[in-house]
Amino acid sequence: MNIYEQLGIKTIINAHDSETIWGGSRMPQEVIQAMADSSNYFVRIQELEKRLSEEIAKLTRNEACFITSGAAAGMVLSVAACMTGDDSDKIDQMPNLDGMKDEVIIHRSQRNGFDQAVRQTGVKLVEIGDKSGATLSQLEAAVTEQTACIVYYAGAFEKNALPIEEVTAFGNERSIPVIIDAAAQLPPVENLWHYTEMGADLVLFSGGKTLRGPQATGFILGKKDLIKACQLNGSPNDSIGRPMKVAKEEMVGLYTAIKRYLELDHEQIRNEQEESVQRIIAAIDGLREDVDAKRLYPGPHGQHYPRVEITFRDGDLAQTLSEQLEDGTPSIFTRYRPARKSITINPLHLTTEEVTLVIQQLTKYLTS
Ligand SMILES: *Cc1c(COP(=O)(O)O)cnc(C)c1O
Repeated sequence: MNIYEQLGIKTIINAHDSETIWGGSRMPQEVIQAMADSSNYFVRIQELEKRLSEEIAKLTRNEACFITSGAAAGMVLSVAACMTGDDSDKIDQMPNLDGMKDEVIIHRSQRNGFDQAVRQTGVKLVEIGDKSGATLSQLEAAVTEQTACIVYYAGAFEKNALPIEEVTAFGNERSIPVIIDAAAQLPPVENLWHYTEMGADLVLFSGGKTLRGPQATGFILGKKDLIKACQLNGSPNDSIGRPMKVAKEEMVGLYTAIKRYLELDHEQIRNEQEESVQRIIAAIDGLREDVDAKRLYPGPHGQHYPRVEITFRDGDLAQTLSEQLEDGTPSIFTRYRPARKSITINPLHLTTEEVTLVIQQLTKYLTS
């Protein structure tokens, strides 16, 4: 029996995406092995972090890197870094912001649950624009003496916002740091250097999504001075980041996962995903006249991979199907989209065998 069976916990087939609440992703054997190997030794944790960060920066064509306990932790440290710099009194004073720049500019249209990580530092959010967009003059007008940085969410959030290039050009010109949350923006692999090449000062990624590193890891890429300030605000220093520590095993696992990801044949992976999508569509096509299955692109957060969207004439049936799949054995998690009367199936974390199981369950519920 595996550990979950011993515990009486039902495992999930993840046809949704990389989601923290459903266990993130699967670590490849070489990542698990590297973590196990690293566990046998004691090491100076700051020396290890520095060395691995140098390697990750080199691999991702960036000036510098800091390893974090996730992208959300990366946001806390990045915002803190923009306020404190390398001033040890200010770092110690956090989250009391007396005497520090304490305003962060954000698009109204990009407000989302993850911005708690920005607010956690105690800053005030200064919103620009509305739900449908913002203008450069609104960005201009939002700047005050107290502006610490601009936070921007990449991917699907770009839709109703100023283009990244305009925001980074503005920030660079005014010497206001621009932080980009790119937590889920892989693939394409080029995004590891794309945003910093576009002028972003700090860019955050998750280690436990498409990269398939340890779930409780992430990293910040960007400018040397600000990365240094992130490191000073981070564990193991007595600082705001001390509760966000990263273990040696996780650091080594993340590094191994990034190195592996860069060496993967991304075209082949993409072909396999397209094949899974076509298999599922072919299996459903023609099953019922009130159901339509088609390829959907890109991924839920704008990632470069395809999905299947199954649309119902009657939206209630989409909800019923998603519940049947979730409650069934095996339990399959999909994404129910009420507004589109559909569910989506994402091949990202499905093995070939799991695609077969998904097809079996879909066929069963759609024909009963
Ligand atoms: C997943 C995600 C996060 C959180 O990442 P963690 O690595 O789980 O901390 C933050 N922002 C966005 C946009 C995300 O998609």
